[in-house]
Amino acid sequence: RAKQEGRHAYRFFTDRMNAYSIARQLQENRLREGLELGELEVYYQPQVSLPECRLVGVEALVRWHHPADGLLLPQSFLSIAEESGLILPIGAFVLKESCLQMKQWLEMGIAPPVLCVNLSLQQIAYCNLVQLAHDALQHADLPAHRLELELSETILQACGDTERKTLETLRGMGLRIAIDDFGAGYSSLANLLQLNAEKLKIDNRFIGSLSQPQSETIVRSTILMAQAMGFSTVAEGVENQEQLEKLIQLGCNGIQGWLIAQAMPAQECTRWLGSYTVR
Ligand code: C2E
Ligand code: MG
Ligand code: MG
Ligand code: MG
Repeated sequence: RAKQEGRHAYRFFTDRMNAYSIARQLQENRLREGLELGELEVYYQPQVSLPECRLVGVEALVRWHHPADGLLLPQSFLSIAEESGLILPIGAFVLKESCLQMKQWLEMGIAPPVLCVNLSLQQIAYCNLVQLAHDALQHADLPAHRLELELSETILQACGDTERKTLETLRGMGLRIAIDDFGAGYSSLANLLQLNAEKLKIDNRFIGSLSQPQSETIVRSTILMAQAMGFSTVAEGVENQEQLEKLIQLGCNGIQGWLIAQAMPAQECTRWLGSYTVR
């Protein structure tokens, strides 16, 4: 009898697994199709300095206009993109598209100093990122120092020798590197230093809870560490004036968040940049 039940349990389990993998497969096919049909779009979110609030950068953030489900954020499709390898063509699309946009802003005289583009580990590990970045810059006729690659602290931990070499080559070409979502992982200080990054972005979660003494302590010591290592600091997810004032007090170099602007479609960001007067 026990055997019988066991068999039932097994069948139930495989049925669920099948349902799961079929759903995944459908989502993957839909994402591939969406990419081919041009349903993916790059949004842009400004970064400003503290305390002057000068424009210091714009981050490219991918969105998916799903025909049935509406506007989708990366959290609802990036894991499928990673699992399926679609992150490679998606990443290439974001890089190429945003470099062209940056070039247009430069020609209009409203460009921020840098364009920031997020990378996934697969992009560093499997595809020819050096060639890809080179081509995107050349295609847009954009100087390398205008492009900053954002790598999360978690990705940096997972980088091996090959990936680190790739990053070194990119640094050698004049691209900038930012450590994204800092505080969410546990990198060794030696690894951080070796990376030779320009910028360290403090993770949203500590800014959201900045009024709590524990988060304030983490942010304060992160800023001190970054200063000692020669990185500038940008706080992500700054939503209100209290957070802004606290960050100025703590010596943070910049902010990104809804207090300044949300991520916007290119046209809207063009209007935003054109009317932003603090430079
Ligand atoms: P991230 O790089 O840390 O980007 C910052 C995220 O915080 C963005 O979420 C942004 O919309 C959101 N945000 C900005 N200001 C505020 C605020 O004031 N409050 C709150 N609550 N959130 C704010 P988004 O656009 O949903 O992107 C999520 C993550 O997806 C990004 O986190 C990044 O890791 C990843 N991602 C986005 N675009 C790409 C891409 O093209 N390639 C890769 N590999 N990853 C991407
Ligand atoms: Mg980022
Ligand atoms: Mg971030
Ligand atoms: Mg983040």
